[in-house]
Amino acid sequence: MVTARVADREVDVLLVGAGPASDACATELRERGFEGSILLVGRELDPPYDRPPCSKELLRGETSREGIRLHPEEHWEQRGIELLTRTSVTKLDPAARSVQLSSKQEVVYGQALLATGAMVRRLNVEGSELEGIHYLRAPANAEAIHKDAAEAQRVVLVGGSYIGCEVAASMTMLGKRCTILMQEGHPLERGFGLRVGAWARGVLEAHEVEIVAEDELDFYRGDEDGHVEAVVCGSGRALEADLVVIGAGAVPDVMVARAAGLSLGASGGIECDSRLRTSADSVWAAGDVCEYDSAVHGRRLRVEHWEVALAQGRYVAASMLGKAESYSEIPYFWSDIGDWTTLEYVGPAQTWDRVVVRGSIEDGEAFSVWYVDQDRLVAALAVGRSEDLDHARRLMRSRVSVVEHETALCDVASDLSAVG
Ligand SMILES: Cc1cc2nc3c(=O)[nH]c(=O)nc-3n(C[C@H](O)[C@H](O)[C@H](O)COP(=O)(O)OP(=O)(O)OC[C@H]3O[C@@H](n4cnc5c(N)ncnc54)[C@H](O)[C@@H]3O)c2cc1C
Repeated sequence: MVTARVADREVDVLLVGAGPASDACATELRERGFEGSILLVGRELDPPYDRPPCSKELLRGETSREGIRLHPEEHWEQRGIELLTRTSVTKLDPAARSVQLSSKQEVVYGQALLATGAMVRRLNVEGSELEGIHYLRAPANAEAIHKDAAEAQRVVLVGGSYIGCEVAASMTMLGKRCTILMQEGHPLERGFGLRVGAWARGVLEAHEVEIVAEDELDFYRGDEDGHVEAVVCGSGRALEADLVVIGAGAVPDVMVARAAGLSLGASGGIECDSRLRTSADSVWAAGDVCEYDSAVHGRRLRVEHWEVALAQGRYVAASMLGKAESYSEIPYFWSDIGDWTTLEYVGPAQTWDRVVVRGSIEDGEAFSVWYVDQDRLVAALAVGRSEDLDHARRLMRSRVSVVEHETALCDVASDLSAVG
C-alpha cells in the first residue's frame, strides 16, 4: 500500500535565506497588514544582520556581531514572524509547493521567496590550504581576519574591486601595510572606468596602499609552519604576506533553485520576470540571486547591492499581495573606503561611450561622473555630491538625450533640475 506523505507543516509565506531581502519582505508583509503565517529560514548562525560592516566597522573591531543585527530579538515575535536560523532548505519541489529543511521537516507553502544571496568566488591555486588566507562574506570571516590581523604586518588583498579597496583601507587604519594585487590597471576600474579607477588609486596610494596592477595571483608560498609568507604573481614577483584576503567576486547561490529545475539566467542568477517571479508558480526571487527583466534598463539585470536586496524584498511582499506594476527601482550602491572617502553609484552601466565629470575629479573631494551611452545617461557616480544622484535617476528614467546638456552637467554652478 502506498501512503501519501503528509507535510509536517504548512505556511502561507516561506522565505528562504535570512539575509536583507527576506528580512525586508517579511517586515513589509506585516507593514502591509498581511495576517497569514510567515516562516523565514536561514542557514547562518546569526539572525538577519547588516553585511556591509563585515569589510568595515566589524573588520576593524569597532562593532560586534550583536552590534550589526538588523533588529532586536523581540522584533520577530512582535510581528508574528517565525525565524529559523542554522537551518537550510535542502530541496524545493515547485509542483508540490513544498520544501525539505535540514531538520528533515517538510514544509508546504502558499508562496515562497528565494533570497539565497551569493557565495565568494574561490581561487584554487597552489598553496590555498595555507593558514592566513581568507575570503570575506560573513561576520565569522570578518572576525577571523581581524584576529589574524593582530599578528600580521603585511596584508595582501587579491582583487581590485570594492572588497579589496575597503579591506585595504580597514587594514591600513589598523596599522597594517597593504598591497592590492589585481589584473586590471586601476582599482574599481572594471565597474566604473578608467578615470574613477585612477582617482581610487590616488586615494589608496595617498594612504600608502601599494597597488600591483596588471598582474595576477599565481600561487601562495608558505613557511615551514604551514602559514602563508608570500603571494607569488604571474609575473614572478613575490609579495610578502602574513595575511591574505581574496576579493575575487561572488557567484549567486542557486543550488536549491537549480536542483528544483528553475530557469537560470546568463549571469547565473535565478531568472525572473519584471515582477521578480521565477519560472516556478508562486515562487519569487530577490537580492543577489535575482536576475530580472529590468523595465528601466531594457535588459536582464542582476546586481549585488545592499539597498537593492532591501528594495526587492519589499517589492516582493507587495507583489505577493497582488501589486501588478513591474519592479522599477534604479539600483543604488555605495562603498566606504575606510574613513577616507565614500563613493555612491546609480546604474549599472553595461557600456558607455563617454563620461562627463562635474566638479574636479583631480581634487577628489566632491565630484560626480556621468556615464553616457548613445546620448543617454546610463549611470552616475558621486563622491561628496549625493544630491546629484537624484537628478541622474530622473534622467535615466526619462531616457532623454543629454547631448545638449553636457556643458550644464560639467558646470557645478548650473542648476541640474533644469537639465532634461
Ligand atoms: C563584505 C561585504 C561588504 C559589502 N558591502 C556593501 C556595501 O558597502 N554596499 C552595498 O551596496 N553592498 C555591499 N555588499 C553587498 C550586500 O551585502 C549584498 O548585496 C546583500 O547582502 C545581498 O542580500 P541578499 O539578501 O540577497 O543575500 P545575502 O545577504 O547573501 O543573504 C542570503 C542568506 O541566505 C542564506 N542561504 C543560502 N542558501 C540557503 C538555503 N538553501 N537555506 C537557508 N539559507 C540559505 C545564506 O547563508 C545567507 O545568509 C557587501 C557584501 C559583502 C560580502
